[in-house]
Amino acid sequence: MPVTTKRKTVLWSLWILIVPVGLFFVYQKYPPPEIDGWNLLAYALFFIIACLMPMNINGSSTYLVQWATVAVFLKYGIFIEILFSQLTVFIVILRSRTSEPLSFRIPFNSLMFFTASLSAGLAFFAVGGQLGSLNIEKIVLYAFVFQFTSFLVNQLIFYYYDKYTGADPKFFSVDMIWDLSITLLVFPYALALYFSEMYIGLSALLFLGIPFFIMTAIMKMYNSSEKINVELKKAGDIGHQLAARLSTDEVLDQFVVQVADLFKADYAYVLDYRDNQLQMLRMFENMELQKPTVPPVRYNQGIGGKVVTTNAAIIYDRKSQWSDIVTGHLPIDTESIMATPIARNNKTEGVLMLASRQKYAFANHQLQIIDILSTYFAVSLEKASYLQQAIAISERCGLTKLYNYRYMDDQLQKNMVKIGNGELDQLSLVMMDIDRFKGINDQYGHQSGNDILIQLARIIEEEVGGEGICARYGGEEFVVLLPNYGKDLALLFAENLRKRIEIHPFEIVNDLGTERELQIINITLSIGVSTAPEDSDDGMALIRNADRALYIGAKQAGRNKVAAYAK
Ligand code: GH3
Ligand code: MG
Ligand code: MG
Repeated sequence: MPVTTKRKTVLWSLWILIVPVGLFFVYQKYPPPEIDGWNLLAYALFFIIACLMPMNINGSSTYLVQWATVAVFLKYGIFIEILFSQLTVFIVILRSRTSEPLSFRIPFNSLMFFTASLSAGLAFFAVGGQLGSLNIEKIVLYAFVFQFTSFLVNQLIFYYYDKYTGADPKFFSVDMIWDLSITLLVFPYALALYFSEMYIGLSALLFLGIPFFIMTAIMKMYNSSEKINVELKKAGDIGHQLAARLSTDEVLDQFVVQVADLFKADYAYVLDYRDNQLQMLRMFENMELQKPTVPPVRYNQGIGGKVVTTNAAIIYDRKSQWSDIVTGHLPIDTESIMATPIARNNKTEGVLMLASRQKYAFANHQLQIIDILSTYFAVSLEKASYLQQAIAISERCGLTKLYNYRYMDDQLQKNMVKIGNGELDQLSLVMMDIDRFKGINDQYGHQSGNDILIQLARIIEEEVGGEGICARYGGEEFVVLLPNYGKDLALLFAENLRKRIEIHPFEIVNDLGTERELQIINITLSIGVSTAPEDSDDGMALIRNADRALYIGAKQAGRNKVAAYAK
């Protein structure tokens, strides 16, 4: 539920009515005892340090200032405790990274803490608690009442707030158990702080504070290295998956989607850097890949341009840091951005850009992980592109660039399977052979023969268009596979082709004559046609049939002819 202006107004009105007015009455009813200014200042410093060093528990930042809060209360009472709690609210809010506006979070949290402090304090006095006491049993009991009330009020406020905003909260949730555990964990520290301060004075803050803060720092380091470990492991998995992709398109798709997922980015883009331009190659928005429609920009424009020109990664924590540079496409609600160069052999080839609707969504250590991922990506892309090239080469004839025998045979078998299971009704195979080609070679040279083969290949391709598959079957023999072509249609196709070739002027350079001059020569084709399933339902037999028609029906009948296979 978005934070509406109305809700903000209600909150601020409540805040004014409750917090300042409440503080005034608290001061009247429970005035603080005599205060040593230095002592109070030391406590305040202690509070501030505790707020600046949150502990990461259960994936979220937890501020363990409670132990100092309880000690402050036991010594100075409600009024000072409320002031300290409010101080905590402001520091914690200013430091925390969420997208909700401050104008909402400040009154909300301030009210919540105020209510919790006040209720806890009143509960303490209600059960007969006394400030400044050194009676251990009593203090343990009353302090516990104080802390538990504060915990309970907090939980209730969250619970009813969630309910009011339309969520379906559970009172006994995992978060609640965590909060309770932390409250109980901190309790003995609070008492220890209170008693030692009462007996030995301010140095108690140091005795207890120093080990506590060192512990917090160690836990923080441990947590962040744990997080890096998890991300590194995921990056490794992504790398393996990328390496398994066989086409460059798949590598690109997989990379954007996986990286967006790993870093919890709302938007992810891959920009290609070439010919002094940045072109959007992949676009991931709203949890899916979108067709990139953004026109290219100059290589030095926008955030991508900055990455390319400086060859360095950038992290922006919020919109105001980048809003004056962006030139391309970015959704209006974008806040954080992490953009890194994608390099291969030390040359920048593109830019990866991740964006989030949250402020402070990306952290520096993620850049190293992205760096590793980009290497995986670049290598996988290169591998896939070599693979695609190798496949393309292995399927083609080097001279005519038509498909080769192997590819044609493979396609023939696949199509025959389709005929078998009814996916395809008919398939015609047209086989052709140049008439008296040996003579042409002898007269004009082998090179001229090759030139004719190349020109013929283009004409056949043109005649077939997208209707079928053209292959060079052998020396001067070609095969065309025509799915969905019945015999009559295939014969018509063959006849048209034969007629076109008959009159086509083939250009050659005679390399056998004394002068290398351009010459025009004519050739003719003999063509055989067979059709599945009527002639055969077996691929090899279909080839044999067309071959037979070619030799008996066309060659032996005088050449430059089309013949259909007849049983
Ligand atoms: P026909 O088919 O009409 O019976 O006579 P032909 O002369 O075409 O038949 P044959 O099978 O005897 O000869 C085929 C010739 O095709 C042999 C060879 O010189 C030529 N040939 C085969 N492959 C190539 C090639 O890649 N380049 C060139 N230049 N010639 C080739
Ligand atoms: Mg031949
Ligand atoms: Mg021939």
